Amino acid sequence: MRRLATALVLASLCLATGVSSSPDGPQASPEPQPAPADNPFFKPYGTPFNVPPFALIKNEHFLPAIEEGIRREQAEVDAIINDQAAPTFENTIAALDHTGIFLSDVNAVFGALQSAHTNKELLALARQTAPMLAAHRDNIGLNEKLFRRVKAVYDQRQSLKLDREEMFLLENTYRDFVRGGALLDEGQKAELRKLNQELSLLTVKFGENVLAETNDFKLVIEDRADLAGLPPSVVAMAAETAKQAGLEGKWVFTIQVPSMIPFLQYSEKRELREKLHRAYFMKGDRDNAADNKEIAKKIAALRREKARLLGYDNHAAFVLENNMAKTPDRVNAFLNELWEPTLVKAREEAAALQAMIDRQGGGFHLASWDWWFYTEKLRQEKYALDDSALRPYFKLENVRQGIFALCDKLYGLKFIELPDLPRYHPEVQAFEVREADGRHLGVLYMDFHPRESKRGGAWSGGFRRSYYEKGTRVPPVANIVCNFTRPTADAPALLSTDEVETFFHEFGHSLATLFSQARYRSRSVARDAVELPSQIMEHWAFEPELLAVYAKHYQTGEVIPAALVEKLEKSSLFNQGFITGEYLAASILDMAWHTVPNPAEVDTRRFENEVMAGIGLIPEIVPRYRSTYFNHIFSGGYSAGYYAYIWSEVLDCDAYEAFKGKGIFDRQTALSFRKNILEPFGTEDPLAQYVRFRGAEPKIEPLLRNRGLEVKK
Ligand SMILES: [Zn+2]
Repeated sequence: MRRLATALVLASLCLATGVSSSPDGPQASPEPQPAPADNPFFKPYGTPFNVPPFALIKNEHFLPAIEEGIRREQAEVDAIINDQAAPTFENTIAALDHTGIFLSDVNAVFGALQSAHTNKELLALARQTAPMLAAHRDNIGLNEKLFRRVKAVYDQRQSLKLDREEMFLLENTYRDFVRGGALLDEGQKAELRKLNQELSLLTVKFGENVLAETNDFKLVIEDRADLAGLPPSVVAMAAETAKQAGLEGKWVFTIQVPSMIPFLQYSEKRELREKLHRAYFMKGDRDNAADNKEIAKKIAALRREKARLLGYDNHAAFVLENNMAKTPDRVNAFLNELWEPTLVKAREEAAALQAMIDRQGGGFHLASWDWWFYTEKLRQEKYALDDSALRPYFKLENVRQGIFALCDKLYGLKFIELPDLPRYHPEVQAFEVREADGRHLGVLYMDFHPRESKRGGAWSGGFRRSYYEKGTRVPPVANIVCNFTRPTADAPALLSTDEVETFFHEFGHSLATLFSQARYRSRSVARDAVELPSQIMEHWAFEPELLAVYAKHYQTGEVIPAALVEKLEKSSLFNQGFITGEYLAASILDMAWHTVPNPAEVDTRRFENEVMAGIGLIPEIVPRYRSTYFNHIFSGGYSAGYYAYIWSEVLDCDAYEAFKGKGIFDRQTALSFRKNILEPFGTEDPLAQYVRFRGAEPKIEPLLRNRGLEVKK
């Protein structure tokens, strides 16, 4: 069984598709600066596993380190250009892959903190460095002499006797240059540089506004009567949040998901549900200093201009060329095929909720802020299943142990906690990951709970990706960041089933990072294949055989009762019209923004409404992300790519059938998945990898079955 993950991956190391890690470069290389004695980036880290020395890193260390990284990478690139020898794979393509390691190491820390633990100075620094880095990337991507060398190697590729991985790197390097504007004339190149500058600033500003808007709202409750309907654990959590906000004795709910959703599920105060939900879905749309309406359309317009300059119809066509789906038409057809049965289901669900309201004499029409509340009631009525009755079995630490146990069963991995390893926040946990035979595989950081310094959602990234240095593997340092329910004074962190699923999801991304056997530093993963390693992990989360291992009551240690598991399983398709519907609506909105012919002229709110009306979205459902806080597409790397989750789901549902056929813990199947998909992830065409694992191309039926979307004929 499975449900749609609420996860969002903002930055996964395996996603990087650049020419090299972060190819960038200033106009001229200034003279080397003497290394500042106290800047930890300028000397060997000297830490266990060479992780970043977080305790020593101060805000003021980033700018000089980024400047130095830019200078060094440019010098490395210049050395390739000035090589007197004729261009070869080794002296040009492999050499280029190996440039910019210093900058990439600094940026990995800077980027991770920017998302997971930022502050005013870091935000300002991001605004300052985004255009610098964009210019640096263009200096490399638009360098004619460099491109000439790359093209010389590319043109003789058939006679070079390259192996699969080398050929893939060569073809991607060449394509990245072309897509980066290498074939444009000088005037067009100047235009492209300008567009990249503007885009770099606007996308940073967009994300900054979403964070500011999320932190700006608090629902402060002073009267106990306003807590009506809330389970004690939710009340305790709100008291804790109030305490942290300096409002001891009161109760605070925020529009961070783990705080908001339980309130929407249980609060009997309809007007307060409305207030909270409105604050959530009006983020960035309040005509204040953090409003994102103009920024969203400007980003869409600039992206379109850039795509046209590069010879594409629109931004979606530009993006999708690199994906499995290839064209906007194919994505739109795929989304429409799913949308029709989903809308039927969503309408049925809305009618059932309305019927319940009417039965209770509510006398009002179902609204978006009622959906969770009545869904919860209906779930109890139909399946006698209460979300809060499940949470005690999903203590965070137990879920973590469950995932470790799964990784042991499938791959023989061992996880050793490293309590003394440097970390960027005291709540972060660190583990060494070892192979069955004890060899070091990599390091994994995990950062679980919301903070004002952290953006919403969940993602997987890292501080170093693996590659081979003179035949020796440089092991990766991976990172998982979530926004899960916090522990309270009386109880540990008890996760919702959505959170459990998200944890498995992000862990799957990390496994791809940890298992990688890529020789080179560049990865090129089709965005719509990138969720295969993550989403396949979700399939195990609620398997009874695995629940028996980890889902133990946090007080009694009792394993989750079979009856409860059965209810969970029976209700797996419940509310699927809503879950799939809000996701597909956001995917369709994303595609609309990146195919519309005149984004500069639209009115953001009206545009969104028209797109949603066009597909017949019912007003009781708000798209998973509205335009003004759609970080994935306006601040992260998922533009014209939010559909990728459900596209990948065709792959993961079909792939999981292979496990089900042999037993869900089958070591042989796991080994094949590891060898064919995870180890070479991003170094080969994803469909070819998939076919090697599965023996055939993926079929859509397992996905339709899993979501209850089979068209009844
Ligand atoms: Zn993901």
